Amino acid sequence: MAEITEKNNPVSREGLTLTKILYFILMPFRPNLLKPYMAFDHFTEVPIEQLKLSGIQGVLIDADGTLGPHHSRIFSREVVEHVNKMVTSGLKVAIYTNAFENRFQQFTDINVVTGVPPKPDRQGFKEAMEIFLGLKNPSEICMIGDNFITDGGARLAGMQFIHIHPIKGDESFIHSFTRKLAFQYARFYFPRSFP
Ligand SMILES: [Mg+2]
Repeated sequence: MAEITEKNNPVSREGLTLTKILYFILMPFRPNLLKPYMAFDHFTEVPIEQLKLSGIQGVLIDADGTLGPHHSRIFSREVVEHVNKMVTSGLKVAIYTNAFENRFQQFTDINVVTGVPPKPDRQGFKEAMEIFLGLKNPSEICMIGDNFITDGGARLAGMQFIHIHPIKGDESFIHSFTRKLAFQYARFYFPRSFP
């Protein structure tokens, strides 16, 4: 079941892309893109049964700031267990990061999305869903992440977005600045959506 292709390929797609810049500029004018499906302080709070009951079939999970600090190679037991619980509950699960993809050995049997356009490109989400989750309907997919600009791009692809309060780490200035600004937009439009 596990399919970690290009395991040793140290590719990072974290830089500024045109898609990222355009999405960021568009954001304040399209509040619907900023509407979180749910929002939590920690990844381990994501209610698996509730997702299942509301018809969610698959989840794409961001790594940096969501599962652990930036560029982390070691993840907590609780986080690994929560991911495993998602799988045992019947959800299709894959990790989708714009940064290095070769550091998730703790997550056995979990697909790591690779070789697709970086978030927030909608094509990247589509390919992640079809190839790495084996699913076809974006409305049955949740992206779980800490960044409205990258992870939140799932909304463009017709998916739901669950926001996680970012775990502090060694994030670049521009990343952190744009992420915080996008979060302010989201909180402005949907003040009651956040813990
Ligand atoms: Mg992140």
